[in-house]
Amino acid sequence: MIFDTHAHYYDDAFDADRDALLAQLPDKGVDLVVCPGCDLESSRQSMALAERYDYLYFAAGFHPENLEGVTMNQLDEIRALCAHKKCVAVGEIGLDYYWVKTPEDRANSRDFFDAQLSLAEELNLPAIVHDRDAHKDCVDMVRAHPNARGVFHCYAGSIEDAKVLVDKGWMLSFTGNITFKNARRAPEVISWLPMDRIMLETDAPYMAPEPYRGRRCDSSLIPLMAQTVAQLKGLTTEEVLRITLENGKRFFGIA
Ligand SMILES: [Zn+2]
Repeated sequence: MIFDTHAHYYDDAFDADRDALLAQLPDKGVDLVVCPGCDLESSRQSMALAERYDYLYFAAGFHPENLEGVTMNQLDEIRALCAHKKCVAVGEIGLDYYWVKTPEDRANSRDFFDAQLSLAEELNLPAIVHDRDAHKDCVDMVRAHPNARGVFHCYAGSIEDAKVLVDKGWMLSFTGNITFKNARRAPEVISWLPMDRIMLETDAPYMAPEPYRGRRCDSSLIPLMAQTVAQLKGLTTEEVLRITLENGKRFFGIA
């Protein structure tokens, strides 16, 4: 009963054994995976994986770190990818002020986030949002798009921001970093967050949970995140896996 709502299986880290790994995941309890793209090439690679594996769906979009040389008319190609029957979201999109430093580049990334949220609204698809060190501007962007819906992936914001997002109908998803000994903010948020707003993800190949921290991650490790959520919520790991699977299916519109 595993739904990994965010895993980058086109990443080079899987080049040596991608097909062997993806063929085995259903035997390890993995029911569903969403693979989000970060630019045109990785969105197309994600689509190709979705065509190959029944349990794998994809999202298409420009990540804020991948905007160099990208023009707004390339969003037409994202729009075309979104018409694919296995495309379940626009993503991953958002803001990253850790890597994107200059005022010009940050303004450009806000323009692309804005345009891609509008695209998600127009296509009636959810958005997968990446927010690193840009909480205020990301939440403001959500406020500016009252008809958009989506998920903040690898959520690292405050409870206050979480309350705004939940109020607007958004979801939050959590990676292996919630299992780290020094995790503080995410456990607080999870303790407060209504169970129907939580999804789980690996962000593979990154963010492997304890005790695999620092190693390559894959979707079979999701039960370790579920265990942490279960402890915070007073539920069993199985209950958390079942609820987050249902949440993900509802959110992405997967029957
Ligand atoms: Zn990601």
